[in-house]
Amino acid sequence: MDLLIVIVAVLGGVTLLIGARLLEGMFDKYRIKRYIEARGGKLIRARWSSFGPGWLGNRNQRFYRIVYRDADGKDHRATCKTSLFSGVYFTGDTVLKYRFVETPKFECISCGYNLTGNVSGYCPECGNPLHEDQGDL
Ligand SMILES: [Zn+2]
Repeated sequence: MDLLIVIVAVLGGVTLLIGARLLEGMFDKYRIKRYIEARGGKLIRARWSSFGPGWLGNRNQRFYRIVYRDADGKDHRATCKTSLFSGVYFTGDTVLKYRFVETPKFECISCGYNLTGNVSGYCPECGNPLHEDQGDL
């Protein structure tokens, strides 16, 4: 009978720990999301990471590898450090790519003159014939 009580107590304790951890994770992600949205960005992905830069001696803080889009439409990857009573700290924030790919300029390969809309097949600036792969734009 005593053994049963111990088992139930242990199982209950483990369940509580897991539940608390899941709740923490929910609050963390919500906090990170709010932090980014307050700056005009959008959280794309947040994954819990057991170890992050400076995890040693930061037992109460949790690390997340996140991907977010900033107000300028650039995607970033960063490691995020947070806990219940501290703020949200970003480390190793790097821009992944631009959301909007710049349209390539159609230029003369020898002088750089803008050849957009050129129909003659020759650069009006230097007379260089258009390269075959430049086609007719
Ligand atoms: Zn040219």
